[in-house]
Amino acid sequence: MGNSNLLLRVGLAAWRQERSGSWTAERLHRHQQQGLAALRRFAAEHSAFYGELHRGLEGQPLEALPIVTKAMLMADFDRVVTDPRLCLGDLEAHLAGAQADEPYLGRYTVLSTSGSTGLRGVFVFDEREWTQALAAIARPLAWAGAPPPWTRPRSAIIASAAGWHYSARIGSALASRWLPTLRLDAGAPLAELVEKLNAWQPQALAVYPSVLLQLAEEQLAGRLRIRLRHIGTSAERLPQATRRRVHAAWGIRVFDTYGATEYAPIATECREGHLHLLEDRAIVEVVDERGRAVPPGEAGARLLLTVLDRRTQPLIRYEISDGVRELPGRCACGRPFRMLAGIEGRVEETLAFAAAGARAGGPARVELHPNLFHELLERVPATGWQVRQEGDGRLAVLLTGTTHAEAGALLKAQLAALLAGRGASCPAIEVRWVEGLPRGASGKAPLILRTEARTEVRTEVRAEVRAEGQAEAGTEVRTDTRTDTPSDTPTDMRTDTPTDIRTDDQPRRAA
Ligand SMILES: [Zn+2]
Repeated sequence: MGNSNLLLRVGLAAWRQERSGSWTAERLHRHQQQGLAALRRFAAEHSAFYGELHRGLEGQPLEALPIVTKAMLMADFDRVVTDPRLCLGDLEAHLAGAQADEPYLGRYTVLSTSGSTGLRGVFVFDEREWTQALAAIARPLAWAGAPPPWTRPRSAIIASAAGWHYSARIGSALASRWLPTLRLDAGAPLAELVEKLNAWQPQALAVYPSVLLQLAEEQLAGRLRIRLRHIGTSAERLPQATRRRVHAAWGIRVFDTYGATEYAPIATECREGHLHLLEDRAIVEVVDERGRAVPPGEAGARLLLTVLDRRTQPLIRYEISDGVRELPGRCACGRPFRMLAGIEGRVEETLAFAAAGARAGGPARVELHPNLFHELLERVPATGWQVRQEGDGRLAVLLTGTTHAEAGALLKAQLAALLAGRGASCPAIEVRWVEGLPRGASGKAPLILRTEARTEVRTEVRAEVRAEGQAEAGTEVRTDTRTDTPSDTPTDMRTDTPTDIRTDDQPRRAA
């Protein structure tokens, strides 16, 4: 399939999808119900998993069907998918191989992600589904009034460089000589991003909020000199402060998008500043912890997605563990889609470290984007992970699943190399296999976070500390026994790198 052919198909699909913006609420409802009935019939017939899960519930409304979590979807992967040639083991091997960017079996696009829960997921799209997914990604551009891809706007995408990340796959799928797009790695040093953007002079920019804020500051400082006309963000919470700095830097507003690898975008921002659910392709339920519908105006604990046009790997009442609140009422933009007041509990931290061997005039701190950690962690054979920068600056990586000491040691070395390569100083890096990830009040286990103290995680650190003869007076480290780890787990999973940093309490980001 040539790139220009793909662009044409994506453009057509995007145009078709966008027509739903002028529907009435009644028409949207009818469209959803027809799509749902077709999806349920197909899944019952072709997916052993859903056939069993929904047995006896055929006549019941959607709300009566069981919720499907990512853990369920992954545990039963081979019975969920509707092409018997697809199996998780083969897809994992494909993702790990050099041909991960090539279609599997000549027709399937395969992606993997940790999502917002730390649990690795694998998602597979056939050609038609992938075209629809690409088209959907173009919709926020249209909503923002940006020129469509086929008019060749000069644009830049700053995203994850890892091939299996959605954003990277979108970029490479659409990048061609017909679409002059500069693709940059969100994890690259800021000075490098500035230099390349200055050289490219994009008019449109798609970027993570945390990187955007840094770029706005660079523009305001005069080091970045580009004239942006359109800015879209995704993947992280977009703070109001970032919006203000962007307006100060370029005199334009940001259009934010909320999505997940499973389905993107879930919601996108209209000109009225409202985040609308894209309900023509999915039925989205906002529910509480117990799975009961939450009315508009009240905070939900999670979202349930039923994606109407996916057949290869059906998602029916599929849980996304983001807390959202629906905004009551209708939007002046005229779209029939419901609105979200905001996304909570999807906080991914950009971690700041002291600069190694900081010199006068040089930067005192080095910021590492979450994706740098994603790229390393998503290769680890763990069922879940969490990167914690603890109060004293040290980095602790928690891994769940079957203990794999070699992978842990490799990861530790990779993290040390990453930090050294970025000029970041860190007093210690620990990699620990644990039974479960610590969860916050919302029930979430953030992938990357900064903690104020290092006393929350129960580990056997005391033994390691003693073994290394370190005095850690004043640091309360609780111990606990773990059942998933053999007692001969190497204690060298933890290295103490030279401690040449002062921890300070200065704000990690410009105000
Ligand atoms: Zn609107």
